[in-house]
Amino acid sequence: MLRSRFFLKVYAVYVGLILLAIAVVGALVAQKVEQRAQESIQQYLADQAALVRELSSPAFGRSSSPSLHDRLRALGGSIGARLTVIRADGVVIADSQESPSAMDNHARRPEVLVALSEGYGTATRFSETVGATMMYVALSVREGGQLLGYVRASLPLAAIEKQTDSLRAIVGLGGGVAALVALPLGLFLARRLVRPLTLMTAVAESMVQGNYDERLDITGKDEVGQLAHTLNRMAESARDRVEAISTDRNKLLTILGSMVEGVIAVDRDGIVLHMNAGAARLLAAEAEECLGKGIREVTRVHDIRDAIDKAMREGTEVQGELRLATLQSHRVVEMRASPLRNGEGTLVGAVVVLDDVSALRRLETVRRDFVMNMSHELKTPITAIRMLAETLIGDKKMGSKTRKRFLSKIRDQSTRLSSIVTDLLALARLESENAVLDTELVDLRDVVLTSIRPLLPDTAEEGPTVTTVAPDAPISVLGDDEALGQATRNLLENALKYTPNDGRVWVRLRSEEGRAVVEVEDTGIGIAPRDQLRIFERFYRVDKARSRELGGTGLGLSIVKHIALAHEGTVTVESRVGDGATFRLVLPLASSPA
Ligand code: ADP
Repeated sequence: MLRSRFFLKVYAVYVGLILLAIAVVGALVAQKVEQRAQESIQQYLADQAALVRELSSPAFGRSSSPSLHDRLRALGGSIGARLTVIRADGVVIADSQESPSAMDNHARRPEVLVALSEGYGTATRFSETVGATMMYVALSVREGGQLLGYVRASLPLAAIEKQTDSLRAIVGLGGGVAALVALPLGLFLARRLVRPLTLMTAVAESMVQGNYDERLDITGKDEVGQLAHTLNRMAESARDRVEAISTDRNKLLTILGSMVEGVIAVDRDGIVLHMNAGAARLLAAEAEECLGKGIREVTRVHDIRDAIDKAMREGTEVQGELRLATLQSHRVVEMRASPLRNGEGTLVGAVVVLDDVSALRRLETVRRDFVMNMSHELKTPITAIRMLAETLIGDKKMGSKTRKRFLSKIRDQSTRLSSIVTDLLALARLESENAVLDTELVDLRDVVLTSIRPLLPDTAEEGPTVTTVAPDAPISVLGDDEALGQATRNLLENALKYTPNDGRVWVRLRSEEGRAVVEVEDTGIGIAPRDQLRIFERFYRVDKARSRELGGTGLGLSIVKHIALAHEGTVTVESRVGDGATFRLVLPLASSPA
């Protein structure tokens, strides 16, 4: 408190004012007291002079009066004043201290001159006779209008000053006592005045530091109390506001942080104000490190920088598509840069939203390819059927044998068309997001063995030898027996299609490590590694002509893949060209502890 500048100022002003007041009042009082003292001394001298006048009137006219002189001497000794009787012509007749003969003519003494004209004269001057500064009071003595002379009483100023000095001392003492009382009182008052301000300053300071919990314990209805109350309310509303702002800010940051889209906000100078995780991921940057840096430093992608510049320059949204290539990936990103404006509509920066549309674009490509492939696949049998039919209609003379052959070709093509459509429908059903599978607890042995039975060649028939290997214990899986049957059938059909008649095919069933495995191995033509990556795609066939000839649609394996996925399983292939292939369908066992 004592170090507070305000306190020092207040106290200094207070001390100054008190001292000034004491000085002024003291001076005035001292002056008044001195004046009064002088007046009363003057009065006293006048009274003494009047007394002497009465005493001395008979002595006028004589050049000197020894008896008067003695009486004056006695009187002056007792009252402490010097008394003088002067004749009208200025000759001193008697004096209480000096011998009249030794005294020069007093006619021109100032107090005598004034008394001559006004009857009463005073003067304060140096006395040649006494050799000290004196105060004189002279009265004229008249009789019947005729001036007889003067009487004079005087006191040395030293005596008067002694009196006034003691009065001054009393006034000074009074002032000193007043100052002694007033200064500590002032200290107390200044403290009382400054303390709330010091407390308020401390609270305001802590608000600046971000602490809004400090409150003032100052009551009172005066201005200081009201100010303290207002400050408390201010702290409260500031805390509420800051809390609301920080809640909003956190919400915003959480929303921005969890957005898949990348968001970058820059100020008018292109300095990054915010970059969310999505944007950092796309730009392969560290969001924290980018804050406060120029966008040019943050990304080398010109399109982003140009879009920001344009959005700010033209004040409109700028859209575009970018290709962002990192070591790991190529991404297609849709970009929208918009100008950022504050509440007054002034441009304060720009915000860029980056939307990774790679998956969408890939999907679009896949869909386009699929539609093209499908149209192509459907077109071939349809064209064949149309041409065969047109030939049949146009050629009236066609022999019945040829006609029969044409008709059976039409039947083959329509069968093919039907199987394509059936496969497509199966695929569409499996691909649809809410693919409905009739899931139940099934023994995979029953499902597999039942489904492949119609495909197993009779002993009389030509074809690869098929061996089925299944364990004694049931293999329980949760699944759709229809779908699982179809998957197995597709695998076995392929094995039979791509394996020469003298080859061998094994259908093996087993459970291992909590999984059920359906393995279809053949000794057929095998699949090259690069094709192995693609055979599960729709319509992908290694040898189109051969597949078609064998009645394949190119959809079989992709149906298997979707069935496996729908059962949370996988399908894989191992193969070497000319050395057969092994397809493995792996599904979770129902009894496995999840
Ligand atoms: P497809 O109807 O043509 O058989 P799939 O989707 O069932 O269609 O198979 C895709 C391609 O994978 C086939 O065209 C074939 O080239 C190859 N393929 C599938 N199974 C085998 C196999 N067991 N041996 C060799 N190639 C196979």
